[in-house]
Amino acid sequence: MLKIGCHESSSKGFLKMGETAVQIGGSTFQYFTRNPRGGKAKAWDQEDADKFLRYQEEHGLYAPLAHAPYTMNACAAKPELRVFARETMADDLARLEHIPGARYNFHPGSHVGQGAEKGIEMIAETLNEVLKPEQHTKVLLETMAGKGSEVGRSFEELRAIIDRVELSDHIGVCLDTCHVWDAGYDIAGNLDGVLDEFDRVIGLKRLNSIHLNDSMNPCGSHKDRHQKIGEGCIGLEALVNVINHPALRDLPFYLETPNELDGYQSEIALLRSRYED
Ligand code: FE
Ligand code: FE
Ligand code: ZN
Repeated sequence: MLKIGCHESSSKGFLKMGETAVQIGGSTFQYFTRNPRGGKAKAWDQEDADKFLRYQEEHGLYAPLAHAPYTMNACAAKPELRVFARETMADDLARLEHIPGARYNFHPGSHVGQGAEKGIEMIAETLNEVLKPEQHTKVLLETMAGKGSEVGRSFEELRAIIDRVELSDHIGVCLDTCHVWDAGYDIAGNLDGVLDEFDRVIGLKRLNSIHLNDSMNPCGSHKDRHQKIGEGCIGLEALVNVINHPALRDLPFYLETPNELDGYQSEIALLRSRYED
């Protein structure tokens, strides 16, 4: 069974997100834990969470993927921004303990001129301050396109972060197909080679989730502009190979393509029709 869903608006709560996933033919979803540009999260609604968990069970949904706000920068130069990142992550993770099986995905950060090495150290330091031995939620580092001073533009940079995290059993990776392509990994021409490299550098056992996106730009462009499935430079056949690859086919796939719900519904139907059961 293909586990697939799309990025959804969290404004109406968990139950509504679950219902929307089912309505568009999905079996999971991703959402922002708070306004993507940062700020405070809404008050936690345990009644909504409980209703969602029952709904999830009834409909056989796979647990959602929580996405941290993308302004959160664990390796910002300003100390107060790093404090904000640490507090946001700690608060998000405390909430997620109420949603079993959910994972927490975040952009490692942008080193803003301090250098990737310094960025890697600061990101690991943040994780070392926030992770708790008893937590259930896996924290995923997202593979980045290498736009600006983004850290996580190569598998080696992600590995360097993981190597510095004490409780690294809690760490996994979310591979974004647009981002790795833009970073220079040719998943259209040599998917096996890219996955071999991922396995050698990070280890495929860390790979937890996939962001399934086409890209507006050629491989290695470092742009990070998502495109609809089959309308970009990666192309439909390459993305069909991604969902069917033996090392990937059982992972959950999340669409972050420029679409409204009807567009997501069509993409989910298309990908289901090309999934080899
Ligand atoms: Fe992301
Ligand atoms: Fe992504
Ligand atoms: Zn992106």
